[in-house]
Amino acid sequence: MGTNFSKELAVKPGHGVKLTKYDPSDTLGWQKGRKMKAGLEKALKRIDELQYVLYAERKRAVLVVLQGLDAAGKDGTIRHVMSGINPQGCPVTSFKVPSPEEAAHDFLWRVHKAVPGFGDIGIFNRSHYEDVLVVRVHNLVPKEVWSQRYDQINRFEQILQQNNVKILKFYLHISKEEQKKRLLERVDDPNKRWKISQADFNERLFWNAYQKAYEDALTKCNTPEAPWYIIPSDKKWFRDLAISHIIAETMEQMNLKFPEPSIDLKKLKVQ
Ligand code: AMP
Ligand code: MG
Repeated sequence: MGTNFSKELAVKPGHGVKLTKYDPSDTLGWQKGRKMKAGLEKALKRIDELQYVLYAERKRAVLVVLQGLDAAGKDGTIRHVMSGINPQGCPVTSFKVPSPEEAAHDFLWRVHKAVPGFGDIGIFNRSHYEDVLVVRVHNLVPKEVWSQRYDQINRFEQILQQNNVKILKFYLHISKEEQKKRLLERVDDPNKRWKISQADFNERLFWNAYQKAYEDALTKCNTPEAPWYIIPSDKKWFRDLAISHIIAETMEQMNLKFPEPSIDLKKLKVQ
């Protein structure tokens, strides 16, 4: 233990991200085994305890944004990292291709509606970043439109932060080989076949364009109020270990406190 995951994995402010410089199989010296499992358990327990106080306090929210290419492990992260949390305080929103109603609004409309309420830890499985990722890679809107969105996203996230929403953004970084391996596992494993999609394989043709689009998002939208963390994700156990620690470390720093009882206990009449 002793690793400060937040510090190690946060993108430094003002730093221009080059993803080839980040090793997707890095583990910060950790190894799979008993010590790692104990570390994970400890972080998960701490998140559960802190979430209870967050829920009681009802003054602030935590927003966890998960981004990554297909098979990077967004669903797995939600299953493993959020497993110990009270589901009452943990809404998950998955952002898909916009519905006709969503597409008839500004790109942040559906996102703002899904921001967790005070007391909750909200998870975004994909997010407003798709509007500068898939949208950019496939030219779904002109460059003049998407290029303005980095700034718009920063202002949006600043508004949230100023209104008591703590934002944590995780980019799940996998290698092209690991992605192929995981997509092929879906073909081989009968329990995973339901996940196969031709589109996931087709998107691999755009690998470099996605890396470039991610580099811009990670560089341009990395603010002190809403930092990005690059999570080496080729090893699933390390991904879970790192993300759970960063959430626990962040919530620890929020100085959460149980509210005072709403009545004077001396005047409580126990009937
Ligand atoms: P999945 O995460 O596998 O359920 O797939 C959801 C799909 O929705 C992905 O291919 C995303 O790229 C796509 N998607 C999410 N948000 C948007 C958006 N704003 N515009 C276009 N496609 C999107
Ligand atoms: Mg998919």
